[in-house]
Amino acid sequence: MRGERSSFTKLMTDAREGVARDYATHVNPQFARLLDCTGFDRRYVRGEGAKLWDDAGTEYLDCIGGYAVHAIGRNHPDMIATLTEALHSGVPSWVQFERNPLAALLARRLAERTPGDLQHAFFSNSGTEAIECALKLARRATNRSAVLHCAMSFHGLTLGALAANGNEHLRDGFGPLGESKSIPFDDLAALEQALASRQCAAFLVEPVQGKSCRSASDGYLGEAARLCKKHGTLLVIDEVQTGVGRTGKFLACEHDAACQPDMLVLSKALSGGLVPVGATLVRSDIWAKTFDSMSHALVHASTFQSGVLAMTAALTTIEIHDREQLSARAARLGSTLRSAFESAAQKYHVAKEVRGRGLMLGIGLHKDFAERLLASIPLLGNLERVLFGQAFTMELLAEHRILCQVSDSHSNILKFTPPLVIDDASCAQLIQSVNAVFAKFESPGSASLHGAARVVLRARQ
Ligand code: PLP
Repeated sequence: MRGERSSFTKLMTDAREGVARDYATHVNPQFARLLDCTGFDRRYVRGEGAKLWDDAGTEYLDCIGGYAVHAIGRNHPDMIATLTEALHSGVPSWVQFERNPLAALLARRLAERTPGDLQHAFFSNSGTEAIECALKLARRATNRSAVLHCAMSFHGLTLGALAANGNEHLRDGFGPLGESKSIPFDDLAALEQALASRQCAAFLVEPVQGKSCRSASDGYLGEAARLCKKHGTLLVIDEVQTGVGRTGKFLACEHDAACQPDMLVLSKALSGGLVPVGATLVRSDIWAKTFDSMSHALVHASTFQSGVLAMTAALTTIEIHDREQLSARAARLGSTLRSAFESAAQKYHVAKEVRGRGLMLGIGLHKDFAERLLASIPLLGNLERVLFGQAFTMELLAEHRILCQVSDSHSNILKFTPPLVIDDASCAQLIQSVNAVFAKFESPGSASLHGAARVVLRARQ
């Protein structure tokens, strides 16, 4: 085989052949187990827009959207054309000692469309890296070390970001973490009280929480900005999941005109779903506190920052977002889905409430219902509470070919973050399927329940 060039097709063929064994042996055996138990172990071979196809040619509606990565839709033809052109251009990535032109253009375009005065951008390759940058810059600018965050917050899983994570099961066993303080989400009195200690470098907040799917009330972010300023804490808005149109505006914080963040973090959808990118947007005076001399010009940096493909993907994503008016589309279709889910929540006892904004929606499942249900199935215990929500995602996948997930392994919230290019017909399909699944779960002696019970029992083996 020496000297033979491997084609992508050949690589994929070899990979598929060994995946059942190789993934469990060399990657993540527990995740492989979860996929097996829930029936999520499919072999997807094609993705386009909001759809996926498996190797048997079955079509799926993707309402996970790669965890809100695929705003412009999978494999957008304009994105592929521009990235292909970049690849063939011979333009060198990571020269490092140059004024990177694409990074400069992207930083300007982002500065032009973010609220406040976020003139500088630090580019990285993930949401959590972009958060780490914000945390470092906030410490340096304020001479304080603690980070203030909200209960149920999620800002990534590296050690700095984990200190600001509001989910105990994700923090557990990884301490000691950096100094942090947690307050209830959307609670201005708690915020003011925490800020008054004047120990917090940054208040990190998501406009719509990814894990709880709760959206900040009108006026919360603007008032948070005012309080942070008053107490010398920097307001860092985490738009990793909400940014690039997801909630009905390019940025979710734009719903609140009074919100002027000190820093703002983007990632996920900015990638165009093809090349990872993270961005930390920063006010000039804060930036200058870290990058304060030539000897500190690279005091925060990363080898793979601002690569040609990542910058091209981000610039092209913004163009596609604008041209296809994806924010407006997310607002319109989000409101259609929301009203339909609200009607379902009124009709079926199993669904408690609808949360979120735009095309980032969650349906909270009723805890009482879950408990009654679990109590009615012999042999099920506490562990199964964790898997309860999966019974619904499994049914949506198995019977309706809709991919969705719970917002967290410990939550009973069904979460929907489809690509923003999802069409009206697919939204109608989603509404009809969600109703059908709720109806089935409420029917006496529901087959779905027993299916779910079987999964749980298999998971225990
Ligand atoms: N911040 C928010 C709001 C997120 O939703 C996520 C990921 O889901 C992150 C940060 C971390 O991003 P990444 O997974 O790219 O590290």
